[in-house]
Amino acid sequence: MKRVLLKLSGEALAGEKKTGFDEATVIEVAKQIRTIAEEGLEIGIVIGGGNFWRGRTSETIDRNKADQIGMLATVMNCIYVSDICRYLGLKTEIFTPFVCGAFTSLYSKDAVEASFAQGKIVFFAGGTGHPYFSTDTATVLRAVEIEAEAILLAKAVDGIYDSDPKTNPNAVKYDEISIEEVVAKKLAAMDLTASIMCMEQKMPMLVFALDEKDSIINAVHGKFVGTKVTV
Ligand code: UDP
Repeated sequence: MKRVLLKLSGEALAGEKKTGFDEATVIEVAKQIRTIAEEGLEIGIVIGGGNFWRGRTSETIDRNKADQIGMLATVMNCIYVSDICRYLGLKTEIFTPFVCGAFTSLYSKDAVEASFAQGKIVFFAGGTGHPYFSTDTATVLRAVEIEAEAILLAKAVDGIYDSDPKTNPNAVKYDEISIEEVVAKKLAAMDLTASIMCMEQKMPMLVFALDEKDSIINAVHGKFVGTKVTV
């Protein structure tokens, strides 16, 4: 693979604490990113915002505003992970679909290509820039736009199951599944909007657990123990 889109959930940054940042966890993730970057892979990264805020959790404020807070949470997450990557010696750039002053660069395909050409890890913060969407949707959108070969979906669970493994001890994990089946069965790999876009745009996906040692590196090297989603 030459170019991938890595999706990290916001909670993955929080470690055991479940909220905010856990520095040791993020340094481990960033070391894996450095390893695959040094092997020549171009890496775009989308990070969720669940370690701070989810728009749909507020029953009080307007959903549009609640989602804006969620999108800003993803900007905070990208600034944090980007700077941990820099601490490890990598070059990075953060793009947002809305102006964030001096904090980030405004997203455009051309600017992203220039950034990759300079050997940078590229962060896509702020989701799609629109309420009622998710960072899953932003992941597929950016993956398609930058012509990534695959999405690497690093999650709290180690793949896609036929039912929720947290509530069903007999849930069975798929080693491989087609995106059509994921959509038809509404399996919870990504939200449905994102899965449908993956299906329409024929974007393959590797789903695995972030907390398994070297799981990102292993996914890239084909030593893969999660679920492969075919198109
Ligand atoms: N969000 C949004 N539009 C986007 C991406 C994210 O409004 O394109 C907001 C939304 O409020 C979401 C929050 O940002 O709940 C965090 O994003 P994430 O995808 O982690 O949320 P989740 O899917 O877990 O709700």
